[in-house]
Amino acid sequence: MFDADGFYRPHILVVGGAYGGLSVVTNVLNLMAGNAQLTSQLPPPPLGCSIQTPPRVTILDERDGIYHTMGSPLVCASESFASEAWRKFDEIPLINRHNVRSIQGRASAIDMSSRIATYQENSSGPVKQISYDYLVVATGTQRSWPVVPRALNRSGFLRDIQDHTSSIRDAKRAVVVGGGVYLALR
Ligand SMILES: Cc1cc2nc3c(=O)[nH]c(=O)nc-3n(C[C@H](O)[C@H](O)[C@H](O)COP(=O)(O)OP(=O)(O)OC[C@H]3O[C@@H](n4cnc5c(N)ncnc54)[C@H](O)[C@@H]3O)c2cc1C
Repeated sequence: MFDADGFYRPHILVVGGAYGGLSVVTNVLNLMAGNAQLTSQLPPPPLGCSIQTPPRVTILDERDGIYHTMGSPLVCASESFASEAWRKFDEIPLINRHNVRSIQGRASAIDMSSRIATYQENSSGPVKQISYDYLVVATGTQRSWPVVPRALNRSGFLRDIQDHTSSIRDAKRAVVVGGGVYLALR
């Protein structure tokens, strides 16, 4: 990948920008700044040279932000906590640096021989392609609502939680099906 000045800048494509994907991005930026790895007290590996060509990073996620899945039990019972549990990518300073950007879209195919990923920004939008030098796939596990949000943007998610909590609040009786003590009994 070359920038406007003809300067080679490797492109790292991160598909899925939640815990896994954002950890990679944070660590890459951290190592580039000469800091220790986030999960380790060890110093960064010796590179033997300074980084002349900082990479460009693209986060491709079907959501417009990071959702805190581990908070789901409380999210489903508290609108104020739900508001904290989804942070839009464009409000995260780390991601709004000149060499990091985010795209909201769903990846549908990866061609590893030509290093091209195919995605759509929404189900009726055009199919687009993006090339990369290095690929990180951090798309997690598919789970159904309400364990994880079904909405792909923060405003839709907050509307769903509002409907969900008021339907529970207004209910006269509740039946817990299954032994999901963690989520169901919250
Ligand atoms: C209720 C609950 C409680 C939990 N508690 C704990 C706990 O206490 N401790 C613990 O260690 N783990 C816990 N887990 C498990 C933990 O949430 C997962 O291990 C973690 O979410 C995995 O992180 P991830 O970044 O790999 O994937 P995810 O968090 O699933 O994120 C995947 C991301 O990829 C995006 N994505 C998916 N497919 C595509 C696509 N095709 N194109 C573009 N983007 C895509 C999604 O929008 C999402 O942002 C819990 C899980 C649940 C459901």
